[in-house]
This record gives sequence, structure tokens and C-alpha cells, in this order.
Amino acid sequence: MPQKIQRVKGVNDILPAEAKQWQALEAVVKKVMDRYAYGEIRPPLFEKTELFARGVGEDTDIVSKEMYTFSDMSKSSLTLRPELTAGVVRSYIQNNLQQISPVQKLWYEGPMFRQERPQKGRYRQFWQVGAEAIGSPNPEQDAEMIALFYAILEELGIAESVTLKINSVGDSESRAQYRSALQDFLRPHLSDLSETSQHRFETNPLRILDSKAPNDKALVQNAPKIRECLNATSAAHYEQVLEMLEAMDIPYVQDDLLVRGLDYYTHTIFEFTSDALGAQDAICGGGRYNDLVKELGGQDVPAIGWASGIERLLLVVDALKPLPAESDLDLFLIVLGDDLRTKAPQLLHEWRNAGLKCDTDSLRRSMKAQMREANRQKARFVAILGEEELAQGVVQLKNFETSEQQPVAFEAVVAAILDNN
Ligand code: ATP
Ligand code: MG
Repeated sequence: MPQKIQRVKGVNDILPAEAKQWQALEAVVKKVMDRYAYGEIRPPLFEKTELFARGVGEDTDIVSKEMYTFSDMSKSSLTLRPELTAGVVRSYIQNNLQQISPVQKLWYEGPMFRQERPQKGRYRQFWQVGAEAIGSPNPEQDAEMIALFYAILEELGIAESVTLKINSVGDSESRAQYRSALQDFLRPHLSDLSETSQHRFETNPLRILDSKAPNDKALVQNAPKIRECLNATSAAHYEQVLEMLEAMDIPYVQDDLLVRGLDYYTHTIFEFTSDALGAQDAICGGGRYNDLVKELGGQDVPAIGWASGIERLLLVVDALKPLPAESDLDLFLIVLGDDLRTKAPQLLHEWRNAGLKCDTDSLRRSMKAQMREANRQKARFVAILGEEELAQGVVQLKNFETSEQQPVAFEAVVAAILDNN
């Protein structure tokens, strides 16, 4: 016998029962995006490697070690998207979206690819839903972005179990100021830092705040705070975002050590975490990226966005408040006798076209087996079609809930079931 082929490590099969949960979550996402007037964008699954190298940053975990990169027939280097902000910005620039409207509010959903060590809540193909608002530099756009994700959490019924952490990394002037203050603080302890942090001391010292190494973590507790280095414009922007969150009753905690792993952030950055998850507790991360459009060859246009991991969201939903599953079957047609094999598909075709959710047994099994299948699918009604029924142009329609059974003419079945809704 040929050997079975296993799926690739760190990827998932989403089977129909689970897919129902995904669909319920997606329905919530679409509804909220619509309320906030965000339009859906569907960029490609792969892009030129250069886009991520420049857009995400060479020194990030994603670009330095997590990307799936390959070359195609033309020998150009391509990469499966590890995130979608860079792709959305590329698309925004290439399609001149600023000509349609000076503020583009976009959302997306789809799989991302990162070569990480697989574990619960961390996969090599995982799904994100995300939003990007490109065009407005103002704090109300930051507040709306955060409110948008919060609204999804509220709609899912899990907002209360989630923490919003927020910080500001300011504009480039503030960051430069902070960078040297942080370097001055760390310099005397340089040899105590982890190897990665020693490297980052020069390339991206802010990320040392984010280090998981116990020594580094202890040390940065006493580091100067970036909030204290914000210039007046940056501080005012941040204050206004916080004020707006308060006005909307969106709870937050300020986290001085929050920096986020990507290079492109400016001003507001935020993360949502959940206690219902283990080590991988981040369900959403985002922030303002005022320089990215320009750095990718577009005009000098400010932007802000977030991305949320759908598998992690569903883990929280599952633990706290499972989504109502999609409705069960309306009608299961039980077919008895071989002479009815043409009539059955014809009836089902009509009923399905009329909007009923129907199924039948295509294995020609016994009445008992068909009844069992109708039960398994939680059918509200069964229709029994035998030779006698065919002769009279009826089915025996049985309401599973009341156990009532009566003959109903073929053409009256749809109405009989819809009347019962
Ligand atoms: P983490 O700290 O968990 O590594 P990250 O900072 O790399 O997250 P982002 O790049 O900000 O994550 O992606 C946004 C969200 O996507 C995360 O908050 C998380 O919910 C989800 N996510 C990221 N990487 C994975 C993964 N490998 N598997 C599943 N979900 C992921
Ligand atoms: Mg990561």
C-alpha cells in the first residue's frame, strides 16, 4: 500500500465542524468592518522578497528567520506573505488608491506564513484579520482603529477578558532622543545583556525592552521610559488618543515596555492580550506607521493598522463563549425503493432552489440507517418518499420536534416547512 502523506509541520486542516466556528467569527468581522466603513482588500499570497525586507525590516524576527522564500522560473526571489501591512501598502501605492479618496480604510483576512517553532497558538500557516487606515495623521484615526478591534471583541462577547496595552514610540525625533537615552542607560551593562540584545544595542536598541531573556528583562525594568522622551507633538498626539479611548469607555493599560517587533512603527502602538491563552497570549498587535508608505516608494502618507491571529481569537472564544453554530438541516429526504431514484433528486433540487437546507442518503441504505443520518444532522423535518407516496404525489412529512407526521403534496412541502420557522 502506498504510504500516507502527512501534512507539513505547523499547518492545520480546518474541518467542516470547526469551519462553522470560523464562518461565525468571519460574519462578526464583516459586520463590524461594514459598520466602521472599511472596505475589503485581497492582496496576493506572495510578493517580491524585497517588499518584506524593506517593509518589515531586515532586523526583525520575521525577515531575519521566519520567511518562506523561494525563487520562481524567472529566478526572482519571492516570499509567502508573513504579514499583510507591507502588501496592503504596496497595493495602495501601485493602484493609486489615494486618488479614490485621501483616506483609505481597508481590511483583510487570510493566511500568513512564518517558519516558527510550532506550538499551541503558534503555527507556520496561520490566519490573520487586519485593518489599515492610510491617509490620516490624526489621533481620532488611532482611536477609531483601536475601537474597531474592540468592537469585534465586544460582538464576540470576549471584550472583558482581554487587556489592551498601549504605548507611544513617538515621531522620529522623539525616538532618536530615546534611543540615545536608552543606550546611555544600557552601556554600562552591555556585557550582561543576552547575545541578541548586544547585537540590537546598535541596530535597534528599543527592541531590547521586548527581550525575553530574564537578565535583560530585569535590567530594563529600570530603563528610562520612552513616554518621558516624547517631544511636545508626540506627547500631545498620545494624550489625545488616550482621552478618546476614555470617552469611548475602552479600558487600557499603559505599558512602558511595549515596543512591538516590527521596524515601521511611529507614535501609538498597542497590543491586545488574553488571560485565556497560555504563553502565546497576544491576540492582536498594531500601531501607527507614518513612514512606511514613503519608504516603499509612495508619497509621504501617514497610516495606522492592526492584525489579529484568528486561531488565537478562536481559542479565546472557544474557552469563554463559543459562537452559536450555523442552523441545522431543514429537511432530510428518506428514499425507500429503487423506482424513486429520479424523483428524489428532482424534489431535492426544487426544495434547495427554494432555499431549504436539505440532504438525503446517496448510499441507498435502509430506512433505519437513513433515519439515523437525519438525526445525526439534526434535521428539523424528514420527508419519507416510498412508492405509494410517489403514486399520490406526496411525501410523509415528519416534524422531528413534535413527532407529528402527515402526507404533504410535493409542491406544498416548502411552504409547510417555512411556515414552521
Ligand atoms: P508573537 O508575539 O505571538 O510572536 P507577533 O508580534 O509576531 O506575535 P504580529 O506580527 O504582530 O505578531 O501578528 C499579529 C497577530 O498575529 C499576533 O498578535 C497573533 O495573534 C498572530 N500571530 C502571529 N504569529 C502567529 C503564529 N505563528 N501563529 C498564529 N498566530 C500568530
Ligand atoms: Mg512573532
